[in-house]
Amino acid sequence: MEQLTAFAEQVLSSGPPASDFSGIHELLAELDEAEPARGELPELLDLLTRASAKGMNHLHPGFLAYIPVAGAPVNAVADFVAALLNRYVGVQWASPTMAQLEWNVVRWLAAMFGYPEEARGVLTSGGSFANFTALVTARHARLGAGHLQGAIYQTDQAHMSVERAARLAGVDPALVRFVATDDGLRMDVDALEEAIEADVSRGIEPFLVVLSAGTTNSGAVDPIVDAARVARASGAWVHVDAAYGGAFVLTEHGREVMRGIDEADSITFDPHKGLFSSMGLGCVLVRDGEAMRRAHMGEHAYLQPAGQPGLPPNLSDYSMELTRPFRGLRLWLALKLYGWEPFRQALELNRQLAVDLHRALVADDRYEAPWAPQLSTVVFRDAGGDEATERLLEGVNADGRVLLSSTRMRDRLWLRACFLSHRTDRATLEDLLDALGMSGAQPPGAG
Ligand SMILES: *Cc1c(COP(=O)(O)O)cnc(C)c1O
Repeated sequence: MEQLTAFAEQVLSSGPPASDFSGIHELLAELDEAEPARGELPELLDLLTRASAKGMNHLHPGFLAYIPVAGAPVNAVADFVAALLNRYVGVQWASPTMAQLEWNVVRWLAAMFGYPEEARGVLTSGGSFANFTALVTARHARLGAGHLQGAIYQTDQAHMSVERAARLAGVDPALVRFVATDDGLRMDVDALEEAIEADVSRGIEPFLVVLSAGTTNSGAVDPIVDAARVARASGAWVHVDAAYGGAFVLTEHGREVMRGIDEADSITFDPHKGLFSSMGLGCVLVRDGEAMRRAHMGEHAYLQPAGQPGLPPNLSDYSMELTRPFRGLRLWLALKLYGWEPFRQALELNRQLAVDLHRALVADDRYEAPWAPQLSTVVFRDAGGDEATERLLEGVNADGRVLLSSTRMRDRLWLRACFLSHRTDRATLEDLLDALGMSGAQPPGAG
């Protein structure tokens, strides 16, 4: 236990850099073994410390690349307990008490989005599997069990997992429509309406409209109320992929930009992003819980007795997973210990840092930053063009205090800074501004 405590202290004190790939090949050669050479725990923990120091450091406050998965330490405590207990939460009667705790977490998340009591959901490995589960539910509800073909609508900014889920679920890739986005990188609702009308006039059935509440590229939030109205008129299921943005409903600003999310037929949300859980905690919620159960229910004699009244829902009836980890304990423990307030505060700060960065970039003619952040992601580039932007990325990341990533939109290369960590604070923004040659550019009164 002492060795583990020392190891935890070492991990949590991990300072700069935010990424380090030096000497990676030598280290990989050392780690690559065909058979396990035995060792003692202290020396194995030393090896893990040394090996994990290379690559990207998600625990670093300056990790602003991709969508950060910050992993608060309370998750490790919960996982340790869950693995020790090793109770089965896939069916209600095996461990009714632990199944109740897992279900509580799903219910709390459903309530966070304003979903009604009859909503159901499961915790998943992440947003990709959540999107897959929602897509399968939508297809079953709208097209029936045997009929696979119908059209899906999303924007070119939607996460690639939607397209992948469609393919894996047997939807013809030719029936996945990419709807144009407006100046704010949000779904153009008129274009959605036109695409649906064109399909209907050719006898193609629209069955699913996927809206993004926080695109991975830029954090853009599709106009949920208006797009959902158009979708519903055609009979399509409305899914909101809020894997990244969902947690912002805890803030006033987030509730405003995601207005209408409570009316969506299903929602994807990743606690491992906006609620700072460690990797492997996603969630899918379905407003009409029965539709989710009908799409996933399996029956077999060896799973009797199933569905006893007075117990929490049988999670395996709502998911492809049968044996599952007790994932929910991470969030259960965090929320029981701290409540929602620290999460809300951290999210407000992360958004404010994004707003302040954007303001500083707009005021500096060396940079282009045409989109004000809708959530906590800032997209910008060097005014000198793609090559200059590429060099800027290399320079900033080599500095080691922060880590950015890049993307392509509208035929141009952009850098992304996504603020989404309970460890990220004003000092992080100061480091980034300094790395961009803009120190002292924080707005007056900040901090
Ligand atoms: C991250 C993300 C996903 C995929 O989630 P994983 O947890 O990585 O599987 C899907 N959609 C959006 C909008 C995301 O940001």
